[in-house]
Amino acid sequence: MTSETVTPPKRAARVPETATGRVRQARRIYRRLVEQYPYARAELDFESPLELLVATILSAQTTDVGVNKVTPVLFRRYPDAAALASAEPSEMEEILRPTGFYRAKTRSVIKLGQELVERFDGEVPGKLADLVTLPGVGRKTANVVLGNAFGVPGITVDTHFGRLARRFGWTTSTDPVVVEAEVGEMFPRKDWTMLSHVVVFHGRRICHARKPACGVCPVAQWCPSFGDGETDPDKARALLKYELGAPKGGEAPVPLLVDGGVPDASFSTGHRGTPVVPRHSGAGAQGEAR
Ligand code: SF4
Repeated sequence: MTSETVTPPKRAARVPETATGRVRQARRIYRRLVEQYPYARAELDFESPLELLVATILSAQTTDVGVNKVTPVLFRRYPDAAALASAEPSEMEEILRPTGFYRAKTRSVIKLGQELVERFDGEVPGKLADLVTLPGVGRKTANVVLGNAFGVPGITVDTHFGRLARRFGWTTSTDPVVVEAEVGEMFPRKDWTMLSHVVVFHGRRICHARKPACGVCPVAQWCPSFGDGETDPDKARALLKYELGAPKGGEAPVPLLVDGGVPDASFSTGHRGTPVVPRHSGAGAQGEAR
C-alpha cells in the first residue's frame, strides 16, 4: 500500500492578487487532487438515473455508506418510478429506517415516484429546470444527477465543497449558488463534475471541517488555509479518516502520494463492485459529488 507523506510547507500560500493568478493556483490544486484521487466519483451506489436520484434524496442527514446499505433492498423491491409511486408507506419505512428521518424520506420518495409517473412518463428528466421541480430535489441534488447519471457537467456545492472552496480562497461566500457560480468561472465546464468529486473526497478524507490534517495534505503548498489544522505530519496522519467501507482485505489507507507517485489502485472501489466509472456516469470518474 502506498502511504507516503508530503513535506508540509513552512507557511500558508497567499491568495494571488490577480484573477489570473487565482485561476492558476486553483487549477494547480485541482490537478493535484485529481492525481490524489483519480478514482473519485459519486460515493452513492446506483445503476440508473432514478437510483441516483433516490439515493441522493436519502443521503440527507446521513452518510453515503449508510444509504448504500439500504438501496440494494429498496431498488430490488421498487425497481421503477411506478413501483415507488404505489409503494405501501409502512413497508418502505421499514427499509429506510436505518437512514434516519425515514418517515419523511418515505413520503418524499413515494411522491417523487408519483410525480415522475404523472409528469415525465416515469423517467428522470435530464434538465436542471425540470429536476428542481421534483419534490425533494434542490439544485445540489439536480447537479449530482446531471453530472453523474447524464454526463452534464455540474458543480455540486455540498458542505464539503463549500468549506474547501473558502479555504482555498476560491470564494468567500457561504451561499451555495454564489459558490457554484464563482468557482465555475475558474474552471472549464468539462472539469466541473470531477472537480466536485475530488474536492468532496479531499474534504471527507483530509481537509475535515474541524480538524484538517494539513501536515499530510497534498495541496498544502498552494493552500491559503494551511495551518488551520494540524501541521505536524505524525499528528495529522492520526486525524485521517475514511467514509467508504474498507475494500476486501482490510483497512483502506489514504493513498498519499509523493510528487509523481502512483496511487494504490486497490484503494479504489466501484459501484457494487463494478469498475469505478458507473454505467450511467458520463462524468463520474472523469468522465458528484456529494
Ligand atoms: S488540509 Fe489544510 S492545507 Fe490541506 S486543503 Fe485543508 S486547510 Fe488547506
